[in-house]
Amino acid sequence: MLKEDQIPEKYRAVIDEQISVYKLKRSITQMNFIPDTPKIPIEKQTHWLKIPDVICVFVDMLGSTHLSASLYDSSTAGAYQLFTGTAVRLFSEFESPYIDVRGDGAFALFDSDQPYRALAAAVTFKTFSAEEFVPRINKATDVEVGCHIGIDQKTVLVRKVGFKRYRGRSDRQNEVWAGKPVNMAAKLAALTSDGELLASDRFFANITSKLATHSCGCPPGDKVALWKKVDVSENVALDFDKAYRLRSYWCKKHGAQYCTDILALDDE
Ligand SMILES: [Zn+2]
Repeated sequence: MLKEDQIPEKYRAVIDEQISVYKLKRSITQMNFIPDTPKIPIEKQTHWLKIPDVICVFVDMLGSTHLSASLYDSSTAGAYQLFTGTAVRLFSEFESPYIDVRGDGAFALFDSDQPYRALAAAVTFKTFSAEEFVPRINKATDVEVGCHIGIDQKTVLVRKVGFKRYRGRSDRQNEVWAGKPVNMAAKLAALTSDGELLASDRFFANITSKLATHSCGCPPGDKVALWKKVDVSENVALDFDKAYRLRSYWCKKHGAQYCTDILALDDE
């Protein structure tokens, strides 16, 4: 417990007020889908929404710690713009119901009935990174950048935390997604190297169509299995034992058609 002389009074008052909110009974409303962001509650501090089996696609820039705002200000700014700006806009085009920028990456959420949409968005970003982002930034700087991606799926709780308005501004609030998927997707991304996507087994269980599990056959040959099972049971930060790794990109010849066909699988 805080002592009276431990922290100045006005800061202690803030903490005391939040503790009184913490002691109140919370109400949790069950939802089937991720709501429009303006409909996520902020007014009543005890009200949360619960959404089942939300999918999180987390894309993270590799090598960003070596990009220096003091040494190469313009290239560093350009790298962030190209990576994060493209992530947010691509995920929007894939109609993700919720997108946010996080650190040097971004994440997109998808509803439980949109696993193929989530996968198609992830592979599209992965292809953009390999074909455009990495070569352009490596050419402009002497820093090796890359992209890695994690995907997880589980139930979340959400509400807005912060001020509805603060001195006339509305920027001191953000949605808090409590639960596994955003954290686990970020941790999965961190386990991979450039160009890799790692998905938890509970997300991968949705991916059963051969369109998404096997290659198109290019270069000419058999349609090979694309995903490799990875044992992550030793990793105490993860709450599952198996993950699946994907290294491939959209094929230069068949990618656009595969993307369209895979998107249609969610409606079947
Ligand atoms: Zn092909």
